[in-house]
Amino acid sequence: MTTEELWKKYEEHMFRISAYNLVLSMVYFDNDTIAPTKGDEYRNERMAYMDGEQFSLQTDPEFIALMEELSKREDLDDTRRRIISWQLKDLDAIRNIPKELFVEYSQLSMESQQAWEKAKNANDYKLFEPYLLKIIEMSKRMLTYRHSDLKGYDILLSDFEPGMTIEKYDEFFSLIKRELVPLIRQISLKEKIDTSFTRRHYPKDLQKKLMYRILEYMHFDLEAGLLSETEHPFTNSISKYDNRITTHYYENNLMSSIYSVVHEAGHATYNYQVSDELAKTYVFDNMSSGMHESQSRLMENYLARRDSFWDNLFRDMKELFPEQLEGISQEDFVRAANATECSLIRTEADELTYPLHILIRYEIEKGIFDGSVDVNDLENVWNDKYEEYLGIRPQKASEGILQDVHWSGGSFGYFPTYALGSGYAAQFIKAMSRDLDIDECLSNDEFIKIKDWLREHIHKYGGLYSPSEQIRIATGEDFNPQYYIDYLKDKYTKLYDL
Ligand code: ZN
Repeated sequence: MTTEELWKKYEEHMFRISAYNLVLSMVYFDNDTIAPTKGDEYRNERMAYMDGEQFSLQTDPEFIALMEELSKREDLDDTRRRIISWQLKDLDAIRNIPKELFVEYSQLSMESQQAWEKAKNANDYKLFEPYLLKIIEMSKRMLTYRHSDLKGYDILLSDFEPGMTIEKYDEFFSLIKRELVPLIRQISLKEKIDTSFTRRHYPKDLQKKLMYRILEYMHFDLEAGLLSETEHPFTNSISKYDNRITTHYYENNLMSSIYSVVHEAGHATYNYQVSDELAKTYVFDNMSSGMHESQSRLMENYLARRDSFWDNLFRDMKELFPEQLEGISQEDFVRAANATECSLIRTEADELTYPLHILIRYEIEKGIFDGSVDVNDLENVWNDKYEEYLGIRPQKASEGILQDVHWSGGSFGYFPTYALGSGYAAQFIKAMSRDLDIDECLSNDEFIKIKDWLREHIHKYGGLYSPSEQIRIATGEDFNPQYYIDYLKDKYTKLYDL
C-alpha cells in the first residue's frame, strides 16, 4: 500500500473515533450542565460502556500497527509524522491496560466525582475519602502497565506536560517559593485595597448581559461557541466551530463570572484558531495542559486585568450596575481586580497567591506517589500546608481538601500545569509586546489584533509542537520563568507602593 493509501485508512479510522468522541463529549457536557442527578447511575453505566467502545477503537492492534507502519514511511510529510508520533505517545497511557480495568476505572471516576460533589455539599470529607483512596490505588495500579522510561509521578507529570518532570517542577516551584513568599508577606503588612463594592448585589441576568458584552469585545464567535452555566466553569471544545464555555454566577461577587468567562474564552479561542488544515486531526486538541492554560491565563490575567482592557467596557458595566458601582471609577475597579490577599479557595485566588495554591497541591501529589504523605491523613496534610504557605487554616472541608474536582477524577499531575501556564503566558506577552502596542490595541477596541498575533504565533499549530518547541517558535527563546517572577514583582511593587 502506498503511504497515501495508508493515510486514507488511518483517517477513516480516526473519523470513527471522532464520532464516538462527539457523542461522549455531548453526554459529558450534558452531565455537567443540565442532567438530573437521579439519572446518574443509569448514565454512568452506559457512559462507561461507551468509553470502553472508544477505548477499543483507539487501542485496536490493527490501527496501532497501521500508525507504526506510517511512522516508518520515509515519504510521510513532517506534519503527518508529528501527528502520528503524538498519537502513539499518548496511546502509551492506555494501550497496555486491560479493557475491563479501563472501564472499571472510568466508572469509578464518575462515581467518585458524584461522591465528591455530595461530600462537598455536606461539607464532610469522610463521605469522599473512601473513593479518593480507591482512585489513588487504581491510579498507581494503572501506572504499572506503562512502558515509559519515566517512573511514578514523573509519568503523570509528563502526560499533562511533555518534557516536565519532578526535577524541573521542583526547580520551578522553588523559584516561586523563594521569590513570591517574601513578597506576599511584605504586602500583608500594607493597607488593603478596597474591594468591598465587588461584593454588592449583582443580579444574575445583568451579569449575563455583561458577559455577552465582554465576549463581543473579545470577538468571541457565538456562532461557533456558547456560554452555559455550571457549578465549576470549564471549556469543552468539541470541534473548531463548537466551543462551549461555562461559568457560575454568584450574585454577591462581580469578579468571579467576569474572570472565569474571560479565562474560558481564552481556552476556547485556542481551539477556535487552530488552522483548518489541522482542525480535524489528532493535534486539534492534544495541546499540553500548560500550553492551554497559558492561553486562558494570558487573557484572564495579562489582558483583562489591565486598565486598557476596560477602556471600552467599564462604561457599559456602569450602565448595567449604576447603583452598585456608584462613585467607583475605572481605576478603583482595576485596582480591585488586581488586589491580593491570602485566601483558601484556589479558583478565587488572585494572580500573586495563586501559584502557592498550586505548590501545595504539587507537594501533596508528589508525596502521595513517593509514599512520603500518609493518604489516610490527607485532610490534615492539606490544612497544615495552607497554614505553612498562606498563613490560614481551612475550617471547613469544602474550603479545604474538597474544593477541587480534579482528584476525584484521578487527574494527578494536572495541577502543576496551572502555575506553569501562567509562567508561559508571561513570556508570550513579553514577545507579543515586541510586535504590538498591547494597551493601544485594547484601548482602541482592536482585540482582534491580539487574537491574530496569538493565532499566527501559537494557536494555528494546535498541538503539533511540544511545549518547549512551541515556546521557542512564539518567543524565540527557551522557557524562562524569570519573566513571570519579574512581571509579578514589578506589578505588585507598584500596586502596593513597596
Ligand atoms: Zn483553565
